[in-house]
Amino acid sequence: MATPTAPDGRAQLPPVQSIQMVDLKTQYEQMQEEVDGAILDVVRSGAFINGPAVKQFQAGLEEFLGSAHVIPCANGTDALQIALMALDLQPGDEVIVPAFTYVASAEVIALLGLSPVMVDVDPFTFNVTAAQIEPAITARTKAIIPVHLFGQSCDMEPIVALAKQHGLHIVEDNAQAIGAEYTFSDGQQRRTGALGDIGCTSFYPSKNLGAYGDGGAINTDSDELAARLRMVANHGQNRQYYHDVVGCNSRLDSIQAAVLNCKLTRLDDYNARRRTAARYYDEQLAGIDGLLTPARLPASTHVYHQYTLRIAGGRREALQQHLREAGVPSMIYYPVPLYDQDAFRGTAANAVDFLPVTDALCREVLSLPMHSELTEDTLAYVCQTVRAFFTT
Ligand SMILES: *Cc1c(COP(=O)(O)O)cnc(C)c1O
Repeated sequence: MATPTAPDGRAQLPPVQSIQMVDLKTQYEQMQEEVDGAILDVVRSGAFINGPAVKQFQAGLEEFLGSAHVIPCANGTDALQIALMALDLQPGDEVIVPAFTYVASAEVIALLGLSPVMVDVDPFTFNVTAAQIEPAITARTKAIIPVHLFGQSCDMEPIVALAKQHGLHIVEDNAQAIGAEYTFSDGQQRRTGALGDIGCTSFYPSKNLGAYGDGGAINTDSDELAARLRMVANHGQNRQYYHDVVGCNSRLDSIQAAVLNCKLTRLDDYNARRRTAARYYDEQLAGIDGLLTPARLPASTHVYHQYTLRIAGGRREALQQHLREAGVPSMIYYPVPLYDQDAFRGTAANAVDFLPVTDALCREVLSLPMHSELTEDTLAYVCQTVRAFFTT
């Protein structure tokens, strides 16, 4: 695709409002008839809760993830909470979680009276590694929540081995990486979320598989865990009006499931398009002093929920301002380490108040527009705008 060029040789500014971090409208327009029909079917059937669309989605996601059981729920945060509730942990039990992640990954630990143990992440992949997890394991450690941040799988083989060695549960936070694949050293390939004991994901509209409202899902290969997860998510009941444990109420509604059914069949294509955009960014932004493009883990496909740069030398805010003035949106995911959030200050079981990589990332990361509808014109304009900041 050719980039329109102005007389001075610079790529022309696309209509400013056309550059977005996420473009849900264009994506909708490309499947409008199908989605409208699927939503109308639910409305006409009146099966708003646990209707056929939910069962279809559950089966579709089980097949997609290669996981024996999917339990749909109301959102990704609920998915994480239900996963921890199903593990039968005791107050004070420790759960290891990265300090550089979205708040939900750690919030559910504290909410259940468990102790978050925050660990640092890799400076290039932004993910936790077994090397960072191992020293944080104590006699009270019961579970690890690896977060596949920004769409890249954690290096799971050593984490799975470590968990086996210490008898720990693995609850994957797969909210940002649905569709990514991880290859074990024996050649076995699995989707993220199906690498540990329980996988949790979110269908928040801007996620790689986004609903038109809230949604989430939990998955596991274990029949026993699946039964417990289903019970916890449904008021702790196996039989109606007989409540075996204190549970919660967390459901995916049928309209959201109908939308997700339309998008699940397109998810691999959406993710491939994100990878194409990421390759473009990689090439065009290579070799700029003071700018680091995101690394890829060789053992995994990256599904680029975010395309996140590191900007050195305290220039991030200036770059963000420069981009804003040129009509290019950008976001800081995440500006504050979890241990510095008022909600968590002093609560981490390991009393952590500074982790060097997390601290540096919170000061340096900047995410560029990333979605499945990015055109080459837009990408060229974004890259040119970034380059101009460093060369003028
Ligand atoms: C979005 C997200 C969640 C929570 O999902 P919700 O559906 O918004 O509750 C959890 N963890 C991570 C890493 C996320 O990005």
